[in-house]
Amino acid sequence: MTASRTVFGPGSLARLRDLIDAISPPLVLLVTGRDSYESCGASGVLTPSLKKHRVHRLEAFRPNPQIDDLDQLLSDDLLKSARTGPPPLLVAVGGGSVIDMAKLLAFMAPQTAKPREIATGYCVPDQNAWPLIAIPTTSGTGSEATHFSVLYVDNIKHSIVHESMRPAFVIIDPELTYSLPERLTAITAMDAFCQAVESYWSVKSTDQSRKWASTAAAMVLNHVDRAVNEPDPASRAALSEAAHLSGRAIDITRTTAPHALSYTLTALHGIPHGHAVVLFLGPVLEFNAGITASDCHDPRGVPFVLERVKYILDLLGASTAAEGRKFLDRKLDSLGLETRLETLGVTRPVELEGIVASVNSDRLRNNPRRLEPDQLRSIVDSIA
Ligand code: NAD
Repeated sequence: MTASRTVFGPGSLARLRDLIDAISPPLVLLVTGRDSYESCGASGVLTPSLKKHRVHRLEAFRPNPQIDDLDQLLSDDLLKSARTGPPPLLVAVGGGSVIDMAKLLAFMAPQTAKPREIATGYCVPDQNAWPLIAIPTTSGTGSEATHFSVLYVDNIKHSIVHESMRPAFVIIDPELTYSLPERLTAITAMDAFCQAVESYWSVKSTDQSRKWASTAAAMVLNHVDRAVNEPDPASRAALSEAAHLSGRAIDITRTTAPHALSYTLTALHGIPHGHAVVLFLGPVLEFNAGITASDCHDPRGVPFVLERVKYILDLLGASTAAEGRKFLDRKLDSLGLETRLETLGVTRPVELEGIVASVNSDRLRNNPRRLEPDQLRSIVDSIA
């Protein structure tokens, strides 16, 4: 596994100039959000920094990468012509959607097979990704630290995974998150928190991943209220660091049942990723706390999993899983985030069944306790 080189701290975006000057790429493909590139302040710093390089900006795509948008961007003339010469350098400045899209572009552009063929497992990739510098402007996904991207193909979530997709350089400048509105701050912080908790109890957890995950989870809990209600540099920096650590943790472990259940809510009902995931965290916490020898997925056994669950309950200041779930509900309330599907407009039985029917089975296998379809349905019904 090749670790990214990471620069962290307020004002660190200014370091990009030296980095790119040193690399001196033939072409910089700058992947950004449509409005967030300006509103987060990156444009003001980078426009003069990149002046002496040949820069081409790619920006017209929707959140949560979709295959049509990826195909459209890959048909860009400059990007296509770059396939025949020395590789360009990609620079991604944005939230998880932008960074995921940049990782997909960097990886798919040099491949012989088409993205759809690779995403659906029909063909295998034959090339490594082009180099990428990732610069997050939200404090949630940690996508800058992982070697995979989410890609929706016909509304079904796929993970594109390759060691070469991990960005070579990462710049985490918390100042870029100062423009995040309250609700987005809360939602993205909850994404980081879920990643950390899920990584902590994942069947793939290691000593190192648990260290990153536990630090990240505690940092979110300690700083999210302030960052949402009265943001200051310290709380913004803490969330940026927590998000990055949660990304490093899931880079090792991947996520578990709350993520597995969330994707339909995002793809079909437009519920932002972090919010869709955290809806399921409390119910899954309660479910995992009831693990038995007959449904334990973790080869390290039931006592090991229960120790992990107890650690999370301690973080929440709860002595039982039911108390932990209540704490999470109160936390979401206090952050202004809905806790029930009904209030988010997901009410019809067919919609609830759809969440269960399209659950992501890969992520489910990472959950420490096995989940049967009727148990998934009970979890969905418990937040209906
Ligand atoms: P996002 O990137 O979808 O952005 C949400 C909104 O925030 C957009 O409207 C964007 O324009 C705006 N925004 C971004 N930065 C801003 C800023 N500084 N100021 C004001 N507005 C800003 O949101 P996200 O939560 O960062 O990313 C979610 C995506 O990341 C999902 O598609 C999810 O699947 C993916 N993800 C990927 C990984 C991974 O490891 N690859 C991990 C977690 C999530």
